[in-house]
Amino acid sequence: MNLPTLTYDAATDRAREECGVFGVRGADEAAVLCAFGLHALQHRGQEACGITSYNEGRFHSERHLGLVGDHFTDPKRLAGLAGAVAIGHVRYSTSGGAVLRNVQPLYADVRGGGVALAHNGNLTNARALREELTNQGAIFQSTSDTEVILQLAAKSRKTKAVDRLIAALRQVEGAFALVAMTNDKLVGARDPLGIRPLVMGKLDGAVIFASETCALDMIGATFLREVEPGEMVIATDEGIESRRYAPAVPARPCAFEYIYFARPDSVIDGISVYEARKRMGRRLAEEAPADIDVVVPVPDSGMAAALGFAEAIGKPFDLGIIRAHFAGRTFIQPTQAKRDLGVRRKHSANASVLKGQRVLLVDDSIVRGTTSKKIVAMVREAGAKEVHMRSACPPITHPDFYGIDMPMREELMAASHDPERMRAMLEADSLGFLSVEGLYWAVRGEARNDARPQLADHYFTGDYPTRLADRDRSQSDKETQLSFLVDA
Ligand code: AMP
Repeated sequence: MNLPTLTYDAATDRAREECGVFGVRGADEAAVLCAFGLHALQHRGQEACGITSYNEGRFHSERHLGLVGDHFTDPKRLAGLAGAVAIGHVRYSTSGGAVLRNVQPLYADVRGGGVALAHNGNLTNARALREELTNQGAIFQSTSDTEVILQLAAKSRKTKAVDRLIAALRQVEGAFALVAMTNDKLVGARDPLGIRPLVMGKLDGAVIFASETCALDMIGATFLREVEPGEMVIATDEGIESRRYAPAVPARPCAFEYIYFARPDSVIDGISVYEARKRMGRRLAEEAPADIDVVVPVPDSGMAAALGFAEAIGKPFDLGIIRAHFAGRTFIQPTQAKRDLGVRRKHSANASVLKGQRVLLVDDSIVRGTTSKKIVAMVREAGAKEVHMRSACPPITHPDFYGIDMPMREELMAASHDPERMRAMLEADSLGFLSVEGLYWAVRGEARNDARPQLADHYFTGDYPTRLADRDRSQSDKETQLSFLVDA
């Protein structure tokens, strides 16, 4: 195993992660398919990647900081990951130090054999469970939620690996899409509300699990179905077995997968992400129109919505902002100073489109306002006569606890400023947002007039789909400290 120097900063190593998972069983060179699949999921995490495979009585694992293409293109390295079954993971965490010990897949020897696990999503009771386990003598190797699942599985009294995993999943709360493997099984499981996505596909005789359908397309696999919320699917030599480990309740897929996170060519819950984004733009044009000359997307995340907006108002869509390739996502730099730098590094104005024009900019979202403020100024400097800003999702007022990197309330621009104040801060001529109703309309699509899907829409409503045990505990810890100070 190739493990670069390990750095760990307990103060900044927060368990907030954006990730993608992939698993394959029944293919020659499963690790090669895994590498391609992870490459298609690279947008879900660019900080670290890893693959674990199994053959001839041994698990093989490679975990690295950096991009899939930097580590899993070397044929010799891939040859070291032999076997017909493999799982993989891409990860981005907001942690200060790049922490190799958190890079997945994680592996543990438990009674009856080895288990490797890769997980996307955040658990909302991981801290409480970790404390309980540590009090009982468990030794943790990482700070990631995923290890809590492994430890719970290891502790279970069940004899079969799958039953142990199920016992673990029944104790965790929050969001997870996970792939796991033993020496002879590949497992895919999704949280009881289906907050994070997970799909299943096939390629010749092989079974595949992936965070998004774009990873199936990448390797020429056929989409079979979604892994259902609360379902575990187990692939063995005997075929596919489905186990329901949690009662069926209405699903709550994450709204932000549709708005920003998923790749536009993916399909989640039968809905094309690209079409949903275009409809967001179309509806936004109805809800927040403006008299303008040209619609300009903030690339790449605002592309589809800007196209929908321009089509709806019958004005030209043009590329007034050029995005530098290879710049990575703006959020990849965790401090504000570096983030500011990141925005400039990433976008530049194309004066030939902007000069003398009344420009309407469309981005998928305004989080801290960093990107929008920079871009409005940049477009004005390039000679635009007016600059109007539009967000293709509603004002974000609440943080996320399920695996989307969304800052705490104090940092969310819309949490403490009304739209007029935000407009002034961004120095835009006008500012408009999609409504929550508009978002639902866009995600469901015109043909789907049933009530589904009910989304995890807490970003805009504060209506969290699960209990937030860890958050509530840390709030009450703070309150206790405060009352202690007051009493003193
Ligand atoms: P901000 O500059 O803080 O307002 O962030 C908004 C920009 O970041 C938009 O261009 C979004 O496309 C992008 N964005 C939104 N959510 C995320 C996220 N969770 N991770 C990375 N980038 C994001």
